[in-house]
Amino acid sequence: MDCGIFGIVGKKPQRRNFKIHRGLGTVDQAFNKEFLDEMGEMGWKIFFALKGLQHRGQDSSGMVISDNIGGGHNRYSTTGEINKENIQPIEGNFYGAPFALAQNGNLINTLELKKEAEGRGADFGKNCQLDSAAELEISDTRVIVKLIETSPFHDFFDALREVLLKMIGAFSLVVFYRDKVIGVKDPFGIRPLCLGESADYYAISSESCAIDHLSIQLKREINPAEFIVIDSNGISSVNWTAPLKKKICLFEYIYFARPDSVIEGVPVYRARKKMGQYLAYEHRLRLILGEAIVPVLDSGLMAALGVHEATNIPLAYEALFRAHFSFGRSFISGPDLRQLGVSLKFNPVLFDIQGKRVVMVDDSIVRGTTTPKVINFLKKPKELMGMTIGGAKAIDILISSPPCRFSCYYGIDTWRVKGELIAANCQGDILNIKDQIGADYLGYLSLENTIRAVVESDLTRKLCFDDFCTACFTGNYPILN
Ligand code: SF4
Repeated sequence: MDCGIFGIVGKKPQRRNFKIHRGLGTVDQAFNKEFLDEMGEMGWKIFFALKGLQHRGQDSSGMVISDNIGGGHNRYSTTGEINKENIQPIEGNFYGAPFALAQNGNLINTLELKKEAEGRGADFGKNCQLDSAAELEISDTRVIVKLIETSPFHDFFDALREVLLKMIGAFSLVVFYRDKVIGVKDPFGIRPLCLGESADYYAISSESCAIDHLSIQLKREINPAEFIVIDSNGISSVNWTAPLKKKICLFEYIYFARPDSVIEGVPVYRARKKMGQYLAYEHRLRLILGEAIVPVLDSGLMAALGVHEATNIPLAYEALFRAHFSFGRSFISGPDLRQLGVSLKFNPVLFDIQGKRVVMVDDSIVRGTTTPKVINFLKKPKELMGMTIGGAKAIDILISSPPCRFSCYYGIDTWRVKGELIAANCQGDILNIKDQIGADYLGYLSLENTIRAVVESDLTRKLCFDDFCTACFTGNYPILN
């Protein structure tokens, strides 16, 4: 799962009962005002942080509050069904003491770990059979919780470390135990997790945008293999294993993270704008013809600004108006409603692009099923009060990342659409992809300049070119089972 996780610790000790609340859908759907009022200031803080991480998952949301600590999770499921049982944080019991765990990322040895947990006496319920198909039904986070519960170690921290050493994959965890919040990253540091502090609170979060909302200052990114324990007395940090060569998910900078977040010292908006500038440079000969730049909102906006700044081609920001409906995809039921698809997401406003050669800027093309519909939207005349507003004359598409040819097994759900990745099916032949989506021109950003845009945006000047996972573009997977 590429999800949002969050934890917070108050610096003034208070006594609260262990309370957990979870619900399907968005943060607004999962929690109501009565519950938040009952949880007090801490509950509201967690609610606002989870709203800040809403873009990372809308399938379900959960919150835990205990003693002076709390946190939560927004789920975007890539393993485990969308059902109430899999909503995180998932709670467990360690020798009579409750704990809860929230995860961002994906394990690639879930089935082996489940077998091991069952061998130790863990019960996953009769619906969870031990075959490969069942792997899709189990939440890897539930397996981690069961392994901790059945660990031979009697100390919680020893038990957690014992389980971490068995886990293979990309994971950032937030664990809630007694008066402590524990933050953990995998040895490659693939998924983001940052640390923040204010006068009254410590916090850990998938992205800094969530702690910004609480006026908590970003301190730093949690390091690969770091095991950070926070309580009202402060922070302690050790490595739970030897860190390996850093492999930060490059896709976080291209698409997944919110542009106002800072990951590993890189302001995401700045990296995306630079990607746009490099994109403009790489396709400068074609851009001579461009008359209007249309960003695919929201994720293509920053790159489109970069193309605009580099070329001075006017920005038709509103040509593809993005409607923000506040329900998750799982709540759209019925084939007729689902067919509305792209119309529910975008509404074309053609006034500034009619008859023009448009440069449409997007972050990526995965299956290529949406892009032809968007092209059709922008080219097709629209009837308005008896008048006809003409569409664009031509649509050139610029993509601010390389062709996405390989599945991700570390938290972004492209493994589900294996066999449907358009760039893989076209063997990376860009002319073929262009013809399939019906564009007049298609240009991608090279991998070298995608990484360069991130490295050059690093405020700390510490990142190197080989600090990134690029597997979905290159097939070079940093972790193999
Ligand atoms: Fe990110 Fe792609 Fe690596 Fe997955 S395969 S972690 S999406 S860079």
